[in-house]
Parts: sequence; C-alpha cells; structure tokens
Amino acid sequence: MTIKPYQTIGIIGGGQLGRMTALAAKAMGYKIAVLDPNGQGPCAQVADIVIEADYGDMQAAKKLAEVSDVITYEFENIDFPALEWLEKNAYVPQGSKTIQTTQHRFREKSAIAAMGIPVAEFALISSAEDLDKHVTYPSVLKTTTLGYDGKGQVVLRSEADLPKAREQAAAAECILEKFVNFSMEISVMVVRSTTSEVTTLPVAENIHVNNILHQTIVPARISPEVEAKALAAAHKIAEGLNVVGVLGVEMFVVDGEVVINELAPRPHNSGHYSMDACVTGQFEQHVRAICGLPLGDTTLLTPVVMNNILGDHLNMNDLTDISRYMPLLKNGKLHLYGKATAKIGGKMGHINMLGDIDECRAALEASGIWQGASS
Ligand code: AMP
Repeated sequence: MTIKPYQTIGIIGGGQLGRMTALAAKAMGYKIAVLDPNGQGPCAQVADIVIEADYGDMQAAKKLAEVSDVITYEFENIDFPALEWLEKNAYVPQGSKTIQTTQHRFREKSAIAAMGIPVAEFALISSAEDLDKHVTYPSVLKTTTLGYDGKGQVVLRSEADLPKAREQAAAAECILEKFVNFSMEISVMVVRSTTSEVTTLPVAENIHVNNILHQTIVPARISPEVEAKALAAAHKIAEGLNVVGVLGVEMFVVDGEVVINELAPRPHNSGHYSMDACVTGQFEQHVRAICGLPLGDTTLLTPVVMNNILGDHLNMNDLTDISRYMPLLKNGKLHLYGKATAKIGGKMGHINMLGDIDECRAALEASGIWQGASS
C-alpha cells in the first residue's frame, strides 16, 4: 500500500524519535497524529493531532486508528496488547512480530544466533540459583525486558559482584552474557520497506560514557572487511526478521569480527548523524519505508561527528542558554528536542558537526559538550 502526502501518519510515542520522524514526514507533506501520555512532549509540539493518553488505553488506540492511514512507533517497549489490536484494526506495516522479538533480550539473541550471526555467549537466568549455576567472569547480567542505556545491567568482574547480581536475578528474569572485550562499538541502521527494498546507512562508530551514547563518528574507523561484515549482518537480520522501517543494529568489533549486541526496531540515536550527512537520513528513510515509497540514496556526503546534548551539558536552570554550542554552529547542525526540563543523562538534543573528524572532535571538546575524550 502506498501512503501519500496529505494522508496521516500515526506515531505511538511522543519523544524525540517521534518528533524527528514527524518533522521528516511533514517535510514530505504528510500529516502527523501522535499518541503520548504527555500532550506537550517533543512530538506533540510538531503534530497535527495529539491524543493524550496512556499507551495501553484502548480507547486512545481506537482513536489513533481512526485518524491514521498508517501507524508507526518510536520505542520498543510499547504496550503489546494495544499494538496487536492496532495491527488487526489499522495499517501497521511494521507489525508486532519484530517488536515481540526485540522486546525480550533472550528471544532477540536467540533469533540472531539462529541466523548464524555471532552474539556473545548467553544463557537465560530465571533465579539467583540459576545464576550460581551459570556464572563466569567477566560477564554481564541484563534483565530480559525494559533495559536500555545500561539500566538493568550488572557487570560481574569477580565474585565480589555476585551478591548484587543475585539480587537482580531474584527480582527479574535476566540473561547472562559473556563480557566482550571489544575494540570498538559500531552500529548500522538498516531500512526495509513495505515493498521489501533494503538499504543500509554507513557504519557508525559509537562512543558511550556511563553506558549512554555520547558521540558517533562516521565514517567509522574500521577496515573495509569489518565494514562489509557489519553491513552484511544488518542486512541479513532485517530480512530474517522481516523488518519494516528502520532497524538499529548495535555491534561490537572483536578481532576483526562483528558480534551483535542489540537491536532497536526504530530510528536510533546512533543514526542521527544521517539527518545532515547523508543524501537520505534515517527519519526520512523510515517514512519512505512505511509509506511504500522508493527508498532514498544513503551515500555519506561528508564526514560527521554526532554529539549528544545531555542535561549535564546544559545550563539546567536556563534551557534557553545556548552559549555552549554557539561557537559550534558554523559547521554544526543543532537539533533540540523541546523537552521542558533537563535531567542528568537525559537526551535534550544533538549536534551534527560536519567536516574533518579530528577538527570536529576538538571543537566539541573545547565547547565542553564532549567530555569523554578517552579515544
Ligand atoms: P545494552 O543495553 O545491551 O546496549 O548495553 C549497554 C552498553 O553496555 C553497551 O553499549 C556496551 O558498552 C556495554 N555492554 C553490553 N553488553 C556487553 C557485553 N556482553 N560485553 C561488554 N560490554 C557490554
């Protein structure tokens, strides 16, 4: 089915990913409806229709179905019964199957491993006793659901970490993963359309601080062999899971191989660089994919460094204070999400610095927005 300009795209979730999807869609002439418990959130601010309700509210889901010609989502921990209802009663080309897989780390890792693509060795942990049976060092214990940005994770370096991990294993279902001694974290946004066309965006090199993405560098500083492996793995996963729309594939580089860490069936923070640096950015590509339009060229037009702007980087008492990023604006493209309040570690925006990577990183460091500086 082709969804045409003037028709309405319904978005479940009103955060920054919904906002940037909406802005790309509106540039192409679509209307936007958003379902969000916060009626003044980042996406609601740019939407034509705002349905302010909880994600599990069936009346709200019905309303969204009524006003939308196609429905998409911007986060994976979506209310599953509401999504299943929408799938039956509205047009949701992404479906519920991918999300059911990616909402659960054990199902996700099992699905990837079944395609013959490397993941860190893992085991399902249903109790503290289960953990005692499987524990090795170093390893990482992760809750099977609702974890992101390192939340719900305990790193086990030695027996000293076991009590804390046992506590988590007793409280929630988890997986235990072998710790991967990676040389780099990378990601690939792969996009598959309703017509089964598949494209990948250039490989992104990601630098995390305290488990939160701080900086993405493109082109990633990897060999052509690793690049080819990363792109091929992302392509295979998108086809294997019958993904529609953007899938963010997070990977580790280990000894010239790629090991998949995690999937996100939606536009992804590490793909934000593409908004300004590629012929077609991830949000526009997502809109094309769910609307049944031809996918765009994803060629990288310029090297780019994407730096997240977190609450910590701002004057939290005055969000209008832009003195920090003012010096970056000549070749920096600023994207702010319109959030009303800033939290430490909260994603407030990002800046895409275009041009020589080392110069961009130096400028970011001088501005105080980038404080990682470890690599
Ligand atoms: P995740 O929530 O799975 O994306 O993990 C957040 C971050 O924790 C990753 O970006 C890695 O930096 C780190 N991490 C996760 N799993 C592992 C692992 N098995 N080995 C080493 N580091 C990991």
